[in-house]
Amino acid sequence: MTGRTHLIVSTGVTMSVLQLMGQGVSLPGFAIALVSSLLPDIDEPNSLLLQKSLPKSLILKLKLALAAGGIGFMIYAYIQLFFLPYSYGIGLMMVALCWVNQRLFRQLVMAALGGLLLYMGAEGGPWFAVIGALLMVCSVLPHRGLTHSIYGIAIWGGLLYAASSQLNMPLYIAGATSYSLHLLCDAFTKHGVQLFPPLKWKLRIPLMSTGKFSGFLVENICITLTLVLLWHAFIVPFGGQAVGLWDYLTNKAGVWLQ
Ligand SMILES: [Zn+2]
Repeated sequence: MTGRTHLIVSTGVTMSVLQLMGQGVSLPGFAIALVSSLLPDIDEPNSLLLQKSLPKSLILKLKLALAAGGIGFMIYAYIQLFFLPYSYGIGLMMVALCWVNQRLFRQLVMAALGGLLLYMGAEGGPWFAVIGALLMVCSVLPHRGLTHSIYGIAIWGGLLYAASSQLNMPLYIAGATSYSLHLLCDAFTKHGVQLFPPLKWKLRIPLMSTGKFSGFLVENICITLTLVLLWHAFIVPFGGQAVGLWDYLTNKAGVWLQ
């Protein structure tokens, strides 16, 4: 499934379910559902979330900056006799890192960023820690590996649960629901989802292949069903209220006119 479909279906269904359950919808809950709908694909190099947050051009700039930093560091070490020869090794490693492929480099950036956020999380509050831990976990996961499993749901749900208690907002329901819906949607593809690795069993209802006509069809049916659900959760009750308001006003008017 495309990122766009995941975004609409997972977020839309989550918001509808929360509304229908009487949980109500908050802006942070919506934001968490939105991120969670794309999060399982964060380990895919072409995922929507990664393309937006770490585009190729930014990766190239980071590589150039790292190489320049490495060369600069070696020159500094040469002039200042700074921890020679180990500092040469560090400088060379920084330059060498620019030769690793884009996927690995992205993972390294994510791990470094995650570590930094975790470190900041000690002072900056639970959000930094959640995102930091998540980036670190994702950076070491194999493609369509743990993120598309029960463990992925548990890790993300657990992190959000911990953050929720500190923030006094039950965000984990929105997050875990949206995340699980992503996996459910992926079960409609040929690859399916291996929910309990290392067990080989896969949840697979092979109705479509992404990019093929079957994909176009199934994805659009899912989007349409989501829109119908959203309509029932948000527009219909509001319509009822509007009718109630109309009755109330006409009654009032009737009383006044008598
Ligand atoms: Zn996926």
